[in-house]
Amino acid sequence: MSKKIEEFMDLVARKNPGETEFHQAVREVVESVMPFIEKNPKYQKGKILEKMIEPERTIIFRVPWLDDQGEVQINRGFRIEMSSAIGPYKGGIRLHPSVNIGILKFLAFEQVFKNALTTLPMGGAKGGSDFDPKGKSDNEVMKFCQSFMTELCKYIGPNTDVPAGDIGTGGREIGYMFGQYKRIRNEFTGVLTGKGLNWGGSLIRPEATGYGCVYFVEEMLKTRGDSLKGKTCAVSGSGNVAQYTVEKLIQLGAKVVTLSDSDGYIYDKDGIDSKELNCVLQLKNIKRGRIKECAKEFNCKYFEKQRPWNIKCDIAFPSATQNEIDENDAKTLVKNGCIAVGEGANMPTTPEGVQVFQKAKILYAPGKASNAGGVATSGLEMSQNSLRLSWTREEVDRRLHDIMIAIHEQCVRYGKESGYINYVNGANIAGFVKVADSMLDQGLV
Ligand code: NDP
Repeated sequence: MSKKIEEFMDLVARKNPGETEFHQAVREVVESVMPFIEKNPKYQKGKILEKMIEPERTIIFRVPWLDDQGEVQINRGFRIEMSSAIGPYKGGIRLHPSVNIGILKFLAFEQVFKNALTTLPMGGAKGGSDFDPKGKSDNEVMKFCQSFMTELCKYIGPNTDVPAGDIGTGGREIGYMFGQYKRIRNEFTGVLTGKGLNWGGSLIRPEATGYGCVYFVEEMLKTRGDSLKGKTCAVSGSGNVAQYTVEKLIQLGAKVVTLSDSDGYIYDKDGIDSKELNCVLQLKNIKRGRIKECAKEFNCKYFEKQRPWNIKCDIAFPSATQNEIDENDAKTLVKNGCIAVGEGANMPTTPEGVQVFQKAKILYAPGKASNAGGVATSGLEMSQNSLRLSWTREEVDRRLHDIMIAIHEQCVRYGKESGYINYVNGANIAGFVKVADSMLDQGLV
């Protein structure tokens, strides 16, 4: 088996040189599904896996815009339309200086499996740009977003490809992009999700990824007769996903002791309360400041240029970015008594880190399962847009909760091993079966 996997990975490396994050994401899936494919020759014959690693379409474009000094700036825009086997392409837009094609291909590839797990009809995509919204004025962000959408609007639409937010793309950016799409195409449609409530957005969408991740961890804990009540949690990041992870954890009686950004982390040993969380929301979503500013206000410790994983906790919620927990971080977490990891971010744990968690038999699920609540609620936003109706907060939250329970059940179904649930295998195989069967049904596509 390992020879077959290595042969396949050689092919991936040859065809996609230098795209290390993409190789990492593919390897994780291949290691899970190759034994399953061996037992089901129809997938081999149809070369399903070989097709899945090739995007259906890759769009790369120039994004010129004028800064506040009147100077021309040029960024690069991307959209990777990975798979439309089970629905229109769907996935976020990342705006961050680190963005390159390898990172977006890893994210688009993961998105295909994640979207399949949600039980909703959505294909997989990802897009973005190396534009950095940090330190830019609202006017500059608007100019960039308008230029980005002027090109992107040729390729997307409510039945074709429906982008959403991701790192660096929040409500403000979605608003500017939606406005530009509407001007050019002269149509008011659900072409983006994460929209404002007054113009087609869904209640609970901002909260969905964080809430969903907590719901998923709750299900994992239930398998061991445990719950979140009284648990000490370490959360990384302080953006959209982290903020609502903390909100739900507080509601369910857990104690959150850390939050971070790319400069460092804060440690509040008494736990971040609702009032403090509101300060974080103001700071990050309106003032757009740095997390260390909270340390002064909360009278807690701040650790410059460090990640929060050496803090003793029961549950870790990595909610910032890829590869933010390495092997040593994972060992430290396990040594300190961590019993579960809920990935809010995409691929936040390195493969070596994942092995540490699995060897220690702690509850560990990959982000493609535990953070799928965001895109699931985007799917619910698309449904509401098609119906031209808005569901209540309670209705959307109930559906989100049900979807997270359903994703957990699929992981258990395909990932059950003697005495342990391998959520990585469970998520990969469950997602694979749905997409692969749809591809076979549709012929040579
Ligand atoms: P935001 O831009 O709202 O927040 C990102 C947070 O992570 C910020 O605190 C940011 O700090 C920090 N961060 C970003 N890059 C790095 C880095 N290289 N090193 C350390 N910290 C970093 O993004 P989201 O909260 O939306 O996304 C967070 C993660 O969750 C991503 O992996 C994303 O793909 C994933 N995700 C998001 C979903 C959503 O609905 N938004 C859905 C599913 C997954 P700083 O401000 O200093 O950059």
